[in-house]
Amino acid sequence: MTKFISFLFHKLTEDEPSKVIEVSKSLFGRCLYSIKKASIPVMCLADLVKLSYTNSYKRAISITFDDGWDSDYKIAFPVLKEYGFKATFFITTDWINKKGYVQEKWLKEMSQSGMEIGSHTLSHRYLTRLSEDKVYKEFYDSRCKLEDILGKEVTAVSIPGGEYNGKIIKLAYKAGYKIIATSKPGINLAGSTLVNRIPIHSRTSLTDLKKIISFSPFFIFQLKSFYLARALIKKTFGIDDYLTLRNWIIK
Ligand SMILES: [Zn+2]
Repeated sequence: MTKFISFLFHKLTEDEPSKVIEVSKSLFGRCLYSIKKASIPVMCLADLVKLSYTNSYKRAISITFDDGWDSDYKIAFPVLKEYGFKATFFITTDWINKKGYVQEKWLKEMSQSGMEIGSHTLSHRYLTRLSEDKVYKEFYDSRCKLEDILGKEVTAVSIPGGEYNGKIIKLAYKAGYKIIATSKPGINLAGSTLVNRIPIHSRTSLTDLKKIISFSPFFIFQLKSFYLARALIKKTFGIDDYLTLRNWIIK
């Protein structure tokens, strides 16, 4: 059975990153080079979920982007095309055409050249804070908006801030999604529809990336442990305090 890991990027920069969510274009390029060198197939999530249990791939990699920054089109898209890799871009639909974010025509072009476009909800509000009706609207309306733009079915969604619970997952399926991407690190099995992803940020080194590409069980276990520790802090202190604490630490 194919095992796959999914990278989670946010914003790419031409220069050195100045914010935690940023990754330099050069590190991104080296990441793709290392994947190519390891001869691991890169697939978008829609293709991975369709893989049969008896396919011949032992391992695969998915590359995803959250939020819908303009670097999706300006930086990531050309580099991905150079390597012939298909990635998944999760777009916050209220931000489309705004300064610093993707434009409608770019999304069409990316989709037409084989990139997968998914939803990152309407407004990027943390879903655990909203009523069920509002969560459903965030999922459903953003899917319709993307389908109108692209003229094709949108089947994947990623959860803003990685904040979810069982109820939110159910509402995502109800709103028509087949794949739900989280920010929880881990290795996935092809066919799984709740996808763990490994967040890559300004502090991720090339050595870390190579460990992820080699599916290092120890390194991925470490990432999972950090994630669980952070989740515990969030639960204990509340998300606002957690964000203040995080901003203070990474300042
Ligand atoms: Zn986000």
